Amino acid sequence: MKTEFSVVIAGGGSTFTPGIVMMLLENQDRFPIRKLKFYDNFAQRQETIAEACKILLKERAPHIEFSYTTDPEEAFTDIDFCMAHIRAGLYAMREQDEKIPLRHGCVGQETCGAGGMAYGLRSIPAVIEMIDYMEKYSPNAWMLNYSNPAAIVAEACRVMRPNSKVLNICDMPIGIETRIAEILGYEDRKQFDIMYYGLNHFGWWKEFKDAKTGEDLMPRIKEYIKDNGYLPPSVLSGAQHTDESWKETFIKVRDVYALDPETIPNTYLKYYMYPDYVVEHSNKEFTRANEVMEGREAEVFTECHRIIANGTASDTTIEVEEHASYIVDLATAIAFNTKERMLLIVPNNGAISNFDPTAMVEIPCIVDNTGAKPLQIGEIPEFQKGMMSQQVSVEKLVVKAHVEGSKQRLWQALTLSATIPSASVAKDILEDLLEANKDFWVEMK
Ligand code: NAD
Repeated sequence: MKTEFSVVIAGGGSTFTPGIVMMLLENQDRFPIRKLKFYDNFAQRQETIAEACKILLKERAPHIEFSYTTDPEEAFTDIDFCMAHIRAGLYAMREQDEKIPLRHGCVGQETCGAGGMAYGLRSIPAVIEMIDYMEKYSPNAWMLNYSNPAAIVAEACRVMRPNSKVLNICDMPIGIETRIAEILGYEDRKQFDIMYYGLNHFGWWKEFKDAKTGEDLMPRIKEYIKDNGYLPPSVLSGAQHTDESWKETFIKVRDVYALDPETIPNTYLKYYMYPDYVVEHSNKEFTRANEVMEGREAEVFTECHRIIANGTASDTTIEVEEHASYIVDLATAIAFNTKERMLLIVPNNGAISNFDPTAMVEIPCIVDNTGAKPLQIGEIPEFQKGMMSQQVSVEKLVVKAHVEGSKQRLWQALTLSATIPSASVAKDILEDLLEANKDFWVEMK
């Protein structure tokens, strides 16, 4: 059994990369790395992030052999894991994903609704290409993918590369569980035993228990979120800063929860349950993409330039992406057969007994050195089943649109989305998205 691993981070130029590197360093005791590579298809962007990380690594972990490249062979040769977080089209295209649907009076969001479909159609060829590189140059490696939109990417993996060693994972449920831990006064979300089901960015917790005592924590959570959503006391009191768009998302949970008080919802459900409200409260000129470009993206690059100019990262302001340690949990589970229980996006195959067995669902799995073994969820209620059936068909139709090069399928997907009111609005959005994405999507007829 290997005890030290070689990792390539795909999307080396990502704003998340420096924080992820810091997180990997913090976790060296449980997931030792011998070689770390960055891979990106945008040399200049990656260079800034990589040169800063090179300094950081030299100071904090000189034993790790570090390099960065835009050459797939160099990147994917001799690796055990590919941690993939790419954004095909960068933030400039995310801005289009958000603003085009909004212009037509519909939800404009990174992963949900029409914007998510547009992003999905850019991500599919990019992720599939990386899977092929990995299989060509390191056939035994695993890809841990958290590139968005994870639901559509996961469906594309199921259809196009069903036997590949790819695990699709999302940090949103982890983020919400962490908030709930803070709300209830727990130190760590791992002190909970949970049951969750749904699609990616489209799911519900049906159980929340104290892992030690077995106490049912659902009543306490419900009591809090019916008034405050997921805004934890630290944000309510002003002690901790959260971007306005996130604050709005966390408070809207009150209304999402009201629709089904039996379960605890994922925040993203607001886009499907309250699309009119979301559009009304969206700034059509300045969306989340603008917020990130002016905020996190600018800050990360400024900090990397500062590290490079000073030749040291000893006083860096880059923070450990602590919440991203789920990626290490996943890698460790595969590497050391830990049988950790994790939420992953996997083929249903009967885990949700009254739902399409071919759907990619987000459910708890046991992860070992052979991959993910989904737990049985059993039957889900009519309301969730109905919503999920509609949404899973949207995701399947988007992948069909890509595979068949079919505009018709994409029009059907857009029309079926709960975020779009009619086939005519869907058609107008379709035409605008086709034009904006012509350099990225497969040709569609
Ligand atoms: P970013 O734009 O800062 O970085 C993405 C990088 O990917 C860029 O450097 C870009 O050049 C590169 N890239 C694009 N296409 C590529 C390709 N075909 N091959 C190689 N590299 C390519 O984006 P970001 O904000 O850091 O987000 C990166 C991704 O991570 C997004 O998909 C985002 O949604 C996702 N994300 C996922 C989670 C999760 O848990 N699922 C959490 C946070 C972010």
